[in-house]
Amino acid sequence: MPQSRRSFISKAALAAAIAPLSTFGQQYEKSIDQTPKASPPSNLKITDVKCGYIRGSLFVKIYTNQDIWGCGEGVDAIPGTYHLVKNFGERIKGKSPLNVHRLFEDIRKSGFFQGAQSGMYVAVLSAIETALWDLAGKALQLPVYQLLGGKFRDKVRVYCDTALYQRNLPTPKDFADAAQAAKKMGFNAIKFDLDQANDPNKYDFYNWTASPAELQRMYDQLAAAREAVGPTIDICADMHGRYDAVTAQAVAKKMESLNLMWLEEPVPAENVDAYKLITASTSTPICAGENHYLAYGFRKMLEIGAVDIVMPDLQKCGGLGEGQRIANLANLYYVPFAPHMVASFLGAMASAHVCASVPNFMILEWQSYFHTQPMFKEIIHYDGEWVNNSFITVSDKPGIGVEINEAGMKKYAIPGIPFFE
Ligand SMILES: [Mg+2]
Repeated sequence: MPQSRRSFISKAALAAAIAPLSTFGQQYEKSIDQTPKASPPSNLKITDVKCGYIRGSLFVKIYTNQDIWGCGEGVDAIPGTYHLVKNFGERIKGKSPLNVHRLFEDIRKSGFFQGAQSGMYVAVLSAIETALWDLAGKALQLPVYQLLGGKFRDKVRVYCDTALYQRNLPTPKDFADAAQAAKKMGFNAIKFDLDQANDPNKYDFYNWTASPAELQRMYDQLAAAREAVGPTIDICADMHGRYDAVTAQAVAKKMESLNLMWLEEPVPAENVDAYKLITASTSTPICAGENHYLAYGFRKMLEIGAVDIVMPDLQKCGGLGEGQRIANLANLYYVPFAPHMVASFLGAMASAHVCASVPNFMILEWQSYFHTQPMFKEIIHYDGEWVNNSFITVSDKPGIGVEINEAGMKKYAIPGIPFFE
């Protein structure tokens, strides 16, 4: 162990301050000495930032001068961003990774004219910011939730996305079977998709006003799921922002008797005034947020009561610190926080640290692909149980607690993009 943390507190000042308080001071000094440290943080510097692209995810690794590194993930708004990652890396090289908020703000503010308000800029920033938390946690030997202020809960509740979108025109029976299968696996909350682009009941493929037969199809599917699992399992439904306001109101009204946990993104994300009208028209809770960025993107939505529940994607909306800010902002309006999550288990656990750290956490998304696609086990290292009866146990290891496996990841890397080079 090269140097204790006292070195950067200033030994002389500390000694002077505690000299008259001999017993108390000694205990204080001892407790500082006994605090585990991986390195003298004052000397820790970022040396490089590298990345790899798999499926819909960007994995970022931040290296330092002390053989510790941090990993983060960005999703969805990441295609074509390799040079953006390298560019952000240049901006933070030589700096201490422990000032996470400051580095986040340096990158965000220096990109004011480069699109730093949303989209790919913020998704890449999310991956970098998350890697900084992982790195800071490893340097200080603390789990990320502790750096975020501690935890309200040890376990984070998740809902299972049933992934019926992989099936062509799923029937009500498919919905019922998927609901029962998820319940059997121990999940007490499940999600379905209601938007079907190739629904033969559509009259027009550009106008997304649902036809009466399409509305009935949606109802029959969710009613079959409700019938299959009974009244005590939470069911939510996603429309992926693909409909118009009149359809949103019709669907929300029609589903009221099914007691949904929420109806998600019935219309596109941009017009929160339209959301307000939809939310005011129904007792079905309305949820949005995975296509909103930064706490700024949630400000008006919350101020005008546009939604009942916010669901930022922490791998896309700005990262873990920004996710916590969004949760705290929502809490001022008594609005629960239910993050979207389409990442690897690294992203799931990173999100879980934030979910543990805020009072108004409701539920986090969990993907059934973790159970069906071997790739997800191959691209990370984690020795604990991933999920148990709808709950993730938040890792107590330093940092996020999940490591990426570059060797396992390489065969899935998107061709033509440098892989951790
Ligand atoms: Mg969604």
